[in-house]
Amino acid sequence: MNNIAKNLEEVYLNISRAAEKSGRNKEDIKLLGVSKTIAADAMEEAIELGLKEFGESRVQEMLPKMEKLADRAEFQMIGHLQSNKVRDIIDKVSLIHSLDRMSLAKEINKRAKQHDLISEVLVQVNISGEETKHGLKPEDVINFIEDINKYKHIKIKGLMTMAAHTDDEDLIRNSFRELRELAEKIESKNYENFENKYLSMGMTNDYEIAIEEGANIIRVGRAIFGDRNY
Ligand SMILES: *Cc1c(COP(=O)(O)O)cnc(C)c1O
Repeated sequence: MNNIAKNLEEVYLNISRAAEKSGRNKEDIKLLGVSKTIAADAMEEAIELGLKEFGESRVQEMLPKMEKLADRAEFQMIGHLQSNKVRDIIDKVSLIHSLDRMSLAKEINKRAKQHDLISEVLVQVNISGEETKHGLKPEDVINFIEDINKYKHIKIKGLMTMAAHTDDEDLIRNSFRELRELAEKIESKNYENFENKYLSMGMTNDYEIAIEEGANIIRVGRAIFGDRNY
């Protein structure tokens, strides 16, 4: 078996174990293959092995891969999104994980309207408080969601976070738990522009913990494709 096949098998096994451990159904957990820096050939291999959804973080890198693979795979934007790139992807991605500011919401709404579509997004939350991470502060998320209710071409499908860069499992677990609780709190307000459908959390180093804490989209790169060399 080649590496991608072997790696994928292991990731699926770990997903099953984490789901079982937490009394969840593994079918409820979506594996997003993070393919930034990964060549289309390797992605094609993963597609043949059954992986159908990919997360990319740079628009310039994503577009040519989409041209090759869009008939066989779905693409989602997981990285920091510059407003001037929105028009290039608005009708091509199935989910934007990284809505983190008003100016970006305004631009997504404008471009979605031009295409007569409703853009599905996640609000990115910086739970860990690390300065290097994008995302709204948890205490600002509710106001933000209320403020963008005027943008009728945006539908918020949940929340996304990246855990702190640490080996401290409890700290990571608490971040994930905090995101889930925030999503539940927002859900209880019954906003018309928010559906508590997706919790996008967990990467190669911490996806099992994320699953135990309720993630239903995990964003996994290195565990599938191997280490990236930037
Ligand atoms: C790179 C990246 C991932 C995947 O990270 P791995 O450690 O390779 O699993 C997940 N989410 C975001 C936002 C990323 O930028």
